[in-house]
Amino acid sequence: MTRENERSDIVIAGGGFAGLSLAIALRQGLGSATAITVADPTLGKSHAGDERASAIVAAARRLFETLGVWESVADEAQPILDMVVTDSRVDDAVRPVFLTFAGDVEPGEPFAHMIENRFLLDALEKKAREVGIALRGTAVTHFIPPPKRGGSDAERSGGDRASKNGAFSDRFRQSDPPLSGEGSNIAVELADGTRTSTPLLVAADGARSSIRDQAGIAVHGWEYGQSAIVTTVSHERDHEGRAVEHFLPAGPFAILPLKGRRSSIVWTETTREAERIIALPDDDFHAELEQRFKLHLGEITAVGARRAHPLGFFVARSFIAERIALIGDAAHLIHPIAGQGLNMGLRDIAALAEVIVDAARLGLDIGGADVLERYQRWRRFDTMTMGLMTDGLNRLFSNRSAVLRLMRDVGLGLVDRVPNLKQLFIREAAGLVGDVPKLLRGKSL
Ligand SMILES: Cc1cc2nc3c(=O)[nH]c(=O)nc-3n(C[C@H](O)[C@H](O)[C@H](O)COP(=O)(O)OP(=O)(O)OC[C@H]3O[C@@H](n4cnc5c(N)ncnc54)[C@H](O)[C@@H]3O)c2cc1C
Repeated sequence: MTRENERSDIVIAGGGFAGLSLAIALRQGLGSATAITVADPTLGKSHAGDERASAIVAAARRLFETLGVWESVADEAQPILDMVVTDSRVDDAVRPVFLTFAGDVEPGEPFAHMIENRFLLDALEKKAREVGIALRGTAVTHFIPPPKRGGSDAERSGGDRASKNGAFSDRFRQSDPPLSGEGSNIAVELADGTRTSTPLLVAADGARSSIRDQAGIAVHGWEYGQSAIVTTVSHERDHEGRAVEHFLPAGPFAILPLKGRRSSIVWTETTREAERIIALPDDDFHAELEQRFKLHLGEITAVGARRAHPLGFFVARSFIAERIALIGDAAHLIHPIAGQGLNMGLRDIAALAEVIVDAARLGLDIGGADVLERYQRWRRFDTMTMGLMTDGLNRLFSNRSAVLRLMRDVGLGLVDRVPNLKQLFIREAAGLVGDVPKLLRGKSL
């Protein structure tokens, strides 16, 4: 049963990295009088079951610093001090190194840090509570689009016929409300029976976004038939902040340094093989792991849960619909080969927050078509480029062709020998190249 109407200046569906980061950024930029709601059934629940860790590139770390979140997780974050890329078969005794990256993007600023997802998610949720975001531990079930312009009352639903953006517009608008349907709100229904009226609904509800589906936005993409096995290992010797990416024929096997003598493993196999490996008894799993990890850090022990994540690629045909913006995995999903999925989502957040705050300061309708178009122009092309690049990398490396192997090894060797090119790669990987939004440059809105 639907309970009475509430109002919110912005409703965000999804309280993962994307939704919570956006909420905090908007709160900073718009001030405490703006009502921001985040709805997600997992809010308030433990993230201890998330065995993943993420590479947070320098630009993303600057964003978390500006949001006041980084300081509470900094002790858990392991700087990546150098990175080694090898290309070999599983049973090759020697793995020649083709590419090495080392050095900071700025003095004292590593190009990335590794951090376990649960620490960052807990810190984001805590910060969101502290700054007064309304956190609702329930799902968005569906939304009712704004009434059509000139439509009859019978066509209108959601009990929101006032066609005003409520308190938000009163505070920010310096002139008359915009013409046309832009004054009409969207009605968002939550699983607890509440209905919230808002000028802007943000879909941060992940790769299977039901809001994207309900808005009729299709995606371009494909499944890889690969899954990433994720687990954590401890080892005898110190990793010294080194990340290692072994390109094996089935896909990349990444060893990513965590705080202490531990590393996060992201190990790509065909989906069928990944399921077989995950189901192995502990000793057999260990043997498979050791065959790939080798013994360069001494004896290893698998210390975390293991889970396989099926991999795919897509980019939404549109990042916007009427009074709706898609961010994070709801807008795009990429292969974790370059560890950039979340970092791309944070670029969406920084761009959308900047566009909304600019619009609000000009007294514009924050959910209006022009504002959302600006966001889409900023993000969609960049996303497509990064998505296709990671897709190309995966195709180039996840195969057994001797010719392709020769080509990629020559290519990696060349990059390794040209210092300026390498520096550009480091800055690109750190998210500091292109039209970088303010928050990712460490500037407040
Ligand atoms: C193996 C692996 C390794 C990765 N490593 C990296 C890395 O090193 N670096 C990196 O940048 N990225 C990495 N990524 C990608 C990164 O994890 C994702 O891009 C990121 O988690 C996406 O965040 P999100 O908030 O957009 O979506 P999600 O994390 O999927 O969050 C979506 C949220 O929406 C909620 N939700 C769903 N439906 C609804 C609804 N109807 N109403 C309300 N809430 C809803 C869900 O409960 C969830 O909390 C990796 C991914 C994988 C699979």
